[in-house]
Amino acid sequence: MIENPDPAGTVAIVGAGITGLTAAFHLARLGVGSVVYEAGSRAGGPVHSVLRDGYLAEDGPNTLLETAPEIPALIRDLGLADQCLHANPAAANRYIVRDGIPKPIPGTLAGWLTTDLFSLPAKIRVLGDLVIPRRREDAPEESVADFVRRRLGSEFLDYAINPLVAGIYAGDPERLSVTQAFPRLDAVERRHRSLFLGQVLGARERKRSGQIPRANAPKLSFVHGLGTLVSGLLRAVGDRVEYDSPVTALSRHTHGWEVESGSGSGQGARRRRHRAVLLAAPAHRLARIAFADGAGNSLDWFSGIVHAPVTALVFGFRREEVAHSLDGFGVLVPEREPFPILGAIFNSSLFPGRAPEGHVTLTCYVGGSRNPDLALAPADQQCPLVLDALNRLLGVRGRPTFVHRCVHALGIPQYNLGFGVYRKRMQQMEESAPGLRFAGNFRDGISMGDCLVAGLRVAQNLAAPITGI
Ligand SMILES: Cc1cc2nc3c(=O)[nH]c(=O)nc-3n(C[C@H](O)[C@H](O)[C@H](O)COP(=O)(O)OP(=O)(O)OC[C@H]3O[C@@H](n4cnc5c(N)ncnc54)[C@H](O)[C@@H]3O)c2cc1C
Repeated sequence: MIENPDPAGTVAIVGAGITGLTAAFHLARLGVGSVVYEAGSRAGGPVHSVLRDGYLAEDGPNTLLETAPEIPALIRDLGLADQCLHANPAAANRYIVRDGIPKPIPGTLAGWLTTDLFSLPAKIRVLGDLVIPRRREDAPEESVADFVRRRLGSEFLDYAINPLVAGIYAGDPERLSVTQAFPRLDAVERRHRSLFLGQVLGARERKRSGQIPRANAPKLSFVHGLGTLVSGLLRAVGDRVEYDSPVTALSRHTHGWEVESGSGSGQGARRRRHRAVLLAAPAHRLARIAFADGAGNSLDWFSGIVHAPVTALVFGFRREEVAHSLDGFGVLVPEREPFPILGAIFNSSLFPGRAPEGHVTLTCYVGGSRNPDLALAPADQQCPLVLDALNRLLGVRGRPTFVHRCVHALGIPQYNLGFGVYRKRMQQMEESAPGLRFAGNFRDGISMGDCLVAGLRVAQNLAAPITGI
């Protein structure tokens, strides 16, 4: 039995993560109906804030980078501007561990010349970027590690890019593709040859386009954490979300798409027709959806996209039991350093209200491509290792006053070498099947900001043939 046969103009959105919800919100503003199918019992994916015992812990993301003008616009449109927090400017330092000691990343030329984060030969080698030729157009795809070694030298790779990549992708620079994972870096080399020159010459272009480089982008959250963004979207489009409704099959019919979803009410599968469908569930879940577009395509190949497992461990401590000044965003750990964490965020330095008076909150990330087994290890193995690392790195003594843990077994999609094939395939499928769209962190960039912008763009794209605007 097919319910809702051919409702003119509704879009099926698969997944109530930040991408799917933003798309539903923009479709509504464009006058287009949608049903958001969500496999689980809550929306937002990893974007989830936990308030307990006076602490605020984030399951997944801790900061939303304002990399595009659409991001503050969405916050305003949702009526959340008065709850939005900008990271404390006094917490601008970022630390990288070298020889067991967190060292601030230099932010000025003088700081760069005097820092002992890099050796003198490494500093001289970095300047090689000014004279090194650009990569040949016909050269094979390059990993992030090969790109950085070639342009900036191996010490810069080990003590700057390796930890930064762990902080963004929980990924391995030897496997990540520079073109796919850091397209702007790749584009700067193509256009300006030197990264330094590109930085200077590209500034004016970026200003004109409204794009803000990640490094300078304001870091945002909300009084009650990033979950506020999900609640705001749900206030606007929550009536469109159907929970416990995993989509299991999609097939194309004459005027659109038939969606089969499992029903949480125990009444078996449900089938409904929609004019268009947006696939915004994680790649590893898309791979499980039976798919018939009449052209012999399937979604099985999504299982080839690698995901890095990450566990977030959030600890509270009495302030006096942490020796480090915590005057920054956090600390990143290079792979060469013998610590079991990818890094730690100094949450209570960044935003107010993250810990009770006289206490601090630290969020540690464990695992990633570097150490996948540790991400999935039980809490009683992980916690002592992480507490020992915090003791050695930040002088944390005493027992934590708060612990929260969230395991993301298939946490972050990796734009590894060869990833371009997946992007091309999505594009080809969209071109051959009207009304089919893919958006989310498996395609548009892994940051929340990327997902928000993707949700907006894909909504415009889906609405155009329906509204004729
Ligand atoms: C530990 C961690 C830390 C992070 N830190 C940051 C950070 O600080 N800053 C930042 O910008 N980004 C960060 N990210 C990345 C960012 O949070 C994610 O990339 C982004 O939230 C993904 O959004 P999405 O909409 O693409 O997918 P998701 O949020 O994964 O949403 C997909 C939804 O689809 C649902 N679903 C699955 N299968 C089906 C199905 N068959 N039918 C229907 N629904 C289905 C899922 O239940 C889920 O709700 C972090 C991620 C992790 C894991």
